[in-house]
Amino acid sequence: MTEKTKLHYEVIVVGAGVAGIYQIKRLVDLGIEATVLDSANGLGGTWYWNRYPGCRFDSESYTYGYSFSRELLEEWHWKERFSSQPENLRYLNFVADKFDLRRHMQFNCKVDAARFDETRNLWCVSVSGGRELTCRFLVLAIGLLSAPTMPRIEGIDSFKGLSFHTYYWPHEPVDIAGKKVAVIGTGATAIQLIAEIADKVAELTVFQRRPNWSAPLNNSPISEEEMADIRARYDEIFEACTHTPGAFLHGPDHRGFYEVTREERLELWDKLYDEPGFGIWLANFREIFMDEAANSELSKYIADRIRQRVSDPKVAEKLIPRDHGFGVQRLPLETNYYEAYNRDNVHLVNLQETPIERITEKGLKTTEREYDCDIIVYATGFDAITGAYDRIDIRGIGGERLFEKWKDGPKTFLGMLVRGFPNLLMPTGPQSASASTNFPRGIENGVNWCMGVMQYMWDRGYTRAEAMHEAEERWTAHVVKMYEIMLMRKAKSWFTGYNSNVPGHEEGKIRYFVYNGGTPKFVAIINDIAAKGYEGIAFSSNAPPEQGAMSLRTRNCVES
Ligand code: NAP
Repeated sequence: MTEKTKLHYEVIVVGAGVAGIYQIKRLVDLGIEATVLDSANGLGGTWYWNRYPGCRFDSESYTYGYSFSRELLEEWHWKERFSSQPENLRYLNFVADKFDLRRHMQFNCKVDAARFDETRNLWCVSVSGGRELTCRFLVLAIGLLSAPTMPRIEGIDSFKGLSFHTYYWPHEPVDIAGKKVAVIGTGATAIQLIAEIADKVAELTVFQRRPNWSAPLNNSPISEEEMADIRARYDEIFEACTHTPGAFLHGPDHRGFYEVTREERLELWDKLYDEPGFGIWLANFREIFMDEAANSELSKYIADRIRQRVSDPKVAEKLIPRDHGFGVQRLPLETNYYEAYNRDNVHLVNLQETPIERITEKGLKTTEREYDCDIIVYATGFDAITGAYDRIDIRGIGGERLFEKWKDGPKTFLGMLVRGFPNLLMPTGPQSASASTNFPRGIENGVNWCMGVMQYMWDRGYTRAEAMHEAEERWTAHVVKMYEIMLMRKAKSWFTGYNSNVPGHEEGKIRYFVYNGGTPKFVAIINDIAAKGYEGIAFSSNAPPEQGAMSLRTRNCVES
């Protein structure tokens, strides 16, 4: 029987990205009948799709890789401190092949809908092409930034040149040499892309609505000797990541912002700005995230750094954010981004002064003038966190739609379960700690915890797990409370659910998308709940005996 003829699995995992790969590894190790479904033609999730030039990690590569296998750690050589997309995709394929996981994955399988069958305690999953599958547990490993959004601009289909969202950057090489390229957006994606292509295209026009703060990535190659040293220190490296709020190697400076002199603050910032990675953001004083005055002082420092790097003072001023302080949105890291604007072939258009009126056959028209181009790149971001969930018609008890339940923002228990949607597990769901952390570290925590829930049920013959009302309310209130102390609650970013291109997500309504308490606290909470027999989850086993969990798990599945 092939994967494509099976109709029932104990576990269906949706998404073959970093989370789905680790999830299926854990399931296969236990001999569980499980499969991964992915709409793509290959594995890798975010690293499969995002192929735009310049796409790379902002986590140190050796803190991003999986930690679960010593052998894997010994075998893989990261070539750069912040590895690029092609290598990251190679890594994930290497992992899948090493552990023979590919045979448990089905590609070009888009999950359109999932309905919970209350009498059988099973999920009925509708896959593109008309296939209907069932499973006991539905694990959604569908990513946080996997639902790209296009701007709502008139005439978008009329452009006769090449155009695409960065997420859908073509898999075949795009000839940009000698071309006039327009980039819409100046988020983390655009910042990587712009810096990478500025010297390769004839003309690059950047259409910026709001500038973002950004700081140097300070990338470098990793030699054989350095890699040997990293391998010897892997335990220490991963251990360090468990102690920092972001699960990165960068932990906050423990001195109080106001306990040190301005000279000492400047000394720290000068050092961090030139160091690799997120140091300037996450190894800074804690107050920068919560205290307006502290944040403002740092923002002024970074603004001066931008002024030093951009030759034209007018352009420099356009690149400095005024509506939010440094680091209250997720910080994009860059390599020569600001220097790109010193090139004669790179132009910056301020959309706050001259908004885009429409896309034309030949390019873009702002309120000021027309811009002809060969390629338009939409670096316009994602319907973040809940977007991928909203794109599947998920119906729980009584036919309740998850989309409706989360219409005004998600409600979850620990970001991993939802009341009214039994046996639905989200290792990196909305309101979990994953988005605000070094993602794979959050993934391993989330997958391990979800495995614990399933194991608990298999051991006891339970067939249904559902978050309790009280537990969900309490967790959501806790998530909301963590936002109250953070300056980021005021920022128009995907952390607060803002996206001008998604109806209902425009400015004005905060969505409490992520847990901001940090990794150590999150892990302590979820471990404590597990130790108390998964307090907050109602378990039951009301399925007919022949469909009990153990029998389903081991039973050979029906052929179509
Ligand atoms: P983003 O941060 O949401 O940025 C989207 C950009 O598009 C913003 O500049 C936005 O302007 C602009 N935009 C959206 N709609 C527009 C419209 N209708 N007209 C004009 N401009 C419009 O998205 P992203 O850059 O893809 O980054 C999202 C996240 O992905 C990052 O925060 C990060 O977590 C992750 N990421 C990580 C890496 C990495 O280094 N590992 C790289 C790339 C991305 P406004 O701000 O005015 O809305």
